[in-house]
Amino acid sequence: MSGPGIEGGPLPRRNPELLDRYETEIERLVAARDERIRRLAGDDIKLHLHAPGGWVCIDDADEWPCDGAKERLTRQIPVRSERQQYMVKCWRQAVSDLGITDPDEERAMYTRFVAWTEEPRR
Ligand SMILES: [Zn+2]
Repeated sequence: MSGPGIEGGPLPRRNPELLDRYETEIERLVAARDERIRRLAGDDIKLHLHAPGGWVCIDDADEWPCDGAKERLTRQIPVRSERQQYMVKCWRQAVSDLGITDPDEERAMYTRFVAWTEEPRR
């Protein structure tokens, strides 16, 4: 018989298709909420979104996610694990958009995009 044995108790694999759908759904919800906020508040509110494909904040020109974006995302996706999931997706997209192939650079991008969503170390 092939595949992982039960000795050692391998963790069940995640279903990548399910995970993708889940991430897409979070992304859709965040976008819908951004749109609602924009409609309600007009141009007065800063959403700290990034320019499409650019990964730079359109409000303050900082590298995305800027502090404002982190604050907004924390409000909009209050469950830490979901926020992390969302940021992992953003990280993957940014690495692809910016054509990053160097593993060190990829790791640096991970720190920039995802590390702030991780559980504080004790
Ligand atoms: Zn910003």
